[in-house]
Amino acid sequence: MQRVGSQLLCSPLDLAGFIACEHLTQLELAVALGEGRRPAFENAYADLIRRKGEEHERAFLGELRAAGHAVTQVGLGEGRDFQAAARATVEAIRDGVPYLYQAVFLADGWRGVADFLERVERPSALGPWSYEVLDTKLARHPGPEHALQLAFYSHALGQIRRLEPQTAHLILGTRERVPIRLPDVSAYYRRLRRSFEAAVTARPNTAPYPCEYCSLCDFRSSCEDRWEREDHLVRVASIRRDQIVRLAAKGIATLTALAESPPDIRIPKMPPQTFEGLQEQAALQVRTRRAGEIAYEVRPPEDGRGFAALPPRSPGDLVLDLEGHPFFEPARGLRRGQVVGWLVLLANAASSYARRPRSRRSARARRWSVAHAQRTVPGLPKPNCRAVSAWVRSQWVFTNQSATCRPSWRWPRRPARSAAGGTA
Ligand code: SF4
Repeated sequence: MQRVGSQLLCSPLDLAGFIACEHLTQLELAVALGEGRRPAFENAYADLIRRKGEEHERAFLGELRAAGHAVTQVGLGEGRDFQAAARATVEAIRDGVPYLYQAVFLADGWRGVADFLERVERPSALGPWSYEVLDTKLARHPGPEHALQLAFYSHALGQIRRLEPQTAHLILGTRERVPIRLPDVSAYYRRLRRSFEAAVTARPNTAPYPCEYCSLCDFRSSCEDRWEREDHLVRVASIRRDQIVRLAAKGIATLTALAESPPDIRIPKMPPQTFEGLQEQAALQVRTRRAGEIAYEVRPPEDGRGFAALPPRSPGDLVLDLEGHPFFEPARGLRRGQVVGWLVLLANAASSYARRPRSRRSARARRWSVAHAQRTVPGLPKPNCRAVSAWVRSQWVFTNQSATCRPSWRWPRRPARSAAGGTA
């Protein structure tokens, strides 16, 4: 969002921000109007996503060029002159170039840069061709904010050639090309755009609530300061927004107030045990804050919860905590199944090797262990990554943070050597 002269210019990114957090729209608006400041805040995660997104876009551009397609680049250049870039985009569309890279649109107080336009042989007011939008996204699955951006670019494109596109495409981080049917999303896009424009005009009072977008948001530090200053209920671990609203309606508006509430208080539309859990959590956090050290309580074991939800312990258990980053290589991610599969094999081979008498611990025995496991363990696939991954997924319990498994097989005993010297 930016004010140019007397005009406020918005972009599809503002619309995506509005879906995530209405407070963000008001903060951006205040900055654009010169009433507020963008906090100086280094967000390494947001920088990483931006960098990976640019790499993904350039990789797709490279693929198009390597495939022999002529790609005409528009872009904003150093001067970031939207007017000139939008005129260059219209000219390139009129010329019917096969691909446009960084096509710039400017109309009705909105502006944006579409990653790619692809020529399709569908007649329009310009001639026997028209265009569809291609947008590169790091995500592995399409989301509503992606569809909205495509709807914006496609609508702007439709105004130039007087023919609304029917389809736009996402190039995901997995390199998958996903078509989006625009008639399916255009009504939602129009309604959201109207709500956004109404919010920009009316400027309602909004308050920050944590959401998924916070990790990428430029205003995160100022929102966190505000939550801290107000001792806001969002500080209670695992609390939900609807619970905050119900507590506030009962007059409990801060973390300290919740911590000091009597545990038997009744909150409308909140089960007593839920209130009790939130109250205990808040009390622990207040104790931690006051004592300066982490307070904790040992919970009595409960059937089916916490560690009791894991399979019974067994001497063959192996518990792993794998670290990885989803954007290390978006097209593939961390091949968790493959890594875990080989760890299972190696751990079993190693334990078998360790149980052997010292005199028999040879490299040959180690090789034999792995090879023999592959031959004799029922259902254990050959070590190609897909088969091992599928097998591991059938054997392991994955959570966001860890993988836990009780292998259904045990290391087989070494078969007796036959008289001929081979193994039975
Ligand atoms: S940090 Fe979160 S709550 Fe604050 S403006 Fe950004 S998205 Fe909204």
